[in-house]
Amino acid sequence: MPYLTAPEALADLLPDEPRFRSNQLEHWLYRTPVLDASLMTNLPGHIRERIGEALWPFSVEVDQTADGGKTRKWLFRTGDGASIETVLMGYPRRTTLCISSQAGCAMGCSFCATGQFGFERHLRAGEIVAQVAYAAASLRAAPITGVPPRVTNVVFMGMGEPLANPGGVFEAIRRMIDVMGISARAITVSTVGHVPGIYRLADTPWSVNLAVSLHAADDALRTRLVPLNERYDIGAVVEAASHYFAVKGRRISLEWALIAGTNDTEDQARKLAAIARGLAAHINVIALNPTPLSADRPPDAATIRSFMRTLRDEGANATLRDTRGQDIDAACGQLRIRSAASEQRERAQEADHATDEG
Ligand code: SAH
Ligand code: SF4
Repeated sequence: MPYLTAPEALADLLPDEPRFRSNQLEHWLYRTPVLDASLMTNLPGHIRERIGEALWPFSVEVDQTADGGKTRKWLFRTGDGASIETVLMGYPRRTTLCISSQAGCAMGCSFCATGQFGFERHLRAGEIVAQVAYAAASLRAAPITGVPPRVTNVVFMGMGEPLANPGGVFEAIRRMIDVMGISARAITVSTVGHVPGIYRLADTPWSVNLAVSLHAADDALRTRLVPLNERYDIGAVVEAASHYFAVKGRRISLEWALIAGTNDTEDQARKLAAIARGLAAHINVIALNPTPLSADRPPDAATIRSFMRTLRDEGANATLRDTRGQDIDAACGQLRIRSAASEQRERAQEADHATDEG
């Protein structure tokens, strides 16, 4: 499994071959990724055949497009059955790839589909980086009109809490920056507020962007939405983010999923604006994507407008983010819904079948 092997150790996969073969393999994996080993044209046939089916550390279970072809979504499945979701969003001057750091998530945020389905396991560095390589290979094989033919930006906003998996995530970041040539400033780690993880990220050599999923501006409300707040409260999270900003000089973003009747009030907007001003942070607001296991809904358009207006009146920098790929349930961070629903349907059908036959 080449992607599960560190680039420096690829030679171990080809023990009987000259050294330059592993450099060629590294080129096809990390610099100019291809979908299929048969496309690794300068490698001899016997090596391509040996790599063959083992090229990717997962199989492709779902491959969908939306937004007139500008959004692509994949559901990958590892050999041990873990699901990995990845979304590519194309724009005129950039492509943003939303990747997963864990299969499932243990944090249990009430409004999040991933949280509602629980934790499967950490993803290995190779499984994280292979999502980037797969999207890059897909873009080269089938470019999107009017969109750069490479992955320019990567956000850890798929499934999982990246800072709960520092081993896998930090090594994946190293490979993206040092081997794939993606700029640190084009990578964003999104965290629910894993305080020790933020300090560890500040200690790494890479100045990646940090997004903090805040969602509530007082501890009572935040603990209801984000159980981890009980362990690391808003004060501790803001202090860690402030440390990160001081060390890296990269502006922090605060993420806020607007939930009707919950965190969409003027009071919350004022408190959020004060936190953002103190951190010199940018606020990204997204209207909640409804999930199957929760009755939470996004506010109406007028409430969203008024929330945004209060943030700006209070002197905060804020953007209302679009929910790309909604027609395929692929808004970043929300990739699981359709697949879980269809799994349930399939299981129901199987059960039906069993009854028919019985
Ligand atoms: N665990 C990390 C990163 C993955 S979640 C984190 O929580 O930051 C990526 C983003 O999607 C987070 O900002 C998260 O709050 C947001 N999100 C989760 N569920 C959502 C939903 N139902 N609607 C809108 N955004 C959601
Ligand atoms: Fe996990 Fe992030 Fe979802 Fe919370 S919002 S359950 S931390 S993926």
